[in-house]
Amino acid sequence: MTVSRLYTDYVLAPGTKDNISEMVSQIKTAFQERLSKNLFLDPVTKQRSIWKVGNISQMIAYPDEISDNNYLFNKSTSVAQASGQYFMSAVNHVINGNTENLQKLGKPVVKTEWEIAPTVVNAYYEPLYNEFVFLEGILNSPFFDAGWPDYFKYGAFGVVAGHELTHGFDDQGQQYNQDGVLTPWWTNTSVAKFKNKTKCFVDQYSQYSMFGYHINGELTQGENIADNGGVKTAFQAYKNVIGTTTPPSLPSVDLNPDQLFFVAFGQVWCSLFSPQFIASNLKTNPHSPGPYRVIGALSNSEEFSSTFKCADNTRMNPSKKCDLW
Ligand SMILES: [Zn+2]
Repeated sequence: MTVSRLYTDYVLAPGTKDNISEMVSQIKTAFQERLSKNLFLDPVTKQRSIWKVGNISQMIAYPDEISDNNYLFNKSTSVAQASGQYFMSAVNHVINGNTENLQKLGKPVVKTEWEIAPTVVNAYYEPLYNEFVFLEGILNSPFFDAGWPDYFKYGAFGVVAGHELTHGFDDQGQQYNQDGVLTPWWTNTSVAKFKNKTKCFVDQYSQYSMFGYHINGELTQGENIADNGGVKTAFQAYKNVIGTTTPPSLPSVDLNPDQLFFVAFGQVWCSLFSPQFIASNLKTNPHSPGPYRVIGALSNSEEFSSTFKCADNTRMNPSKKCDLW
């Protein structure tokens, strides 16, 4: 938390927290709009799902407590006691963390507590709290930059926010209601249709391979569903935000703003791998490798195909497209 204070004061662009809060709210609205037009959910399930989105709480960037010096002093006392002795500082930090955890035993859960250091580069959805968290560590390029135009902000961070929201409606998140309780809250008909649609993603991603190793479509199912929902939700949110205006494009780049939205998404997952890494990673990682996070989600996107005018029945515009959220 002390490091987070320094990071917030010296690195995070002023206004980032407000900018991200606004984007997250636009993402929720876009997801609700898409739900209201959904064709496979029955009216009761649809209404409950819209409520669930409205009930999601969020933690953005850093906790407000970090501006309180006393709070930080109490948090760092055990480390400060071993000032200059780096090994003992680390040991004290672990002891302190474990003691704090044990003290929570038997007490009510505090849902607003920050469980991960805000400087970590990550965002996540917690189905048990129906909450999503965007740590300040991820509010940097290639995910976000305060000076970017909206098509970059929504193509990169917007998709991340849409991805986390969609986790509330993936194969696991769908089982938890608007209060994070594991209970049946959809009608049986909607659950059956949902399961049928998820199978399309399992089959699609199972066909992808890198260095001769196939992606496990079952293992990566939830993350792939979240990527697909994330792109569609963020594109709609971006369109809602710009309204009827046409944002200025980039100088010397022969791409229009809508195309640059998708370029920003691709840029996020631009990565290189060794065959050895992929062989091991595909067995354990619930995320598909970067290139297929992009290819998989965009080849299911009608908006991508029409924006780039992809010919029918081509690799990025197949006639069979998986669609859920
Ligand atoms: Zn995810």
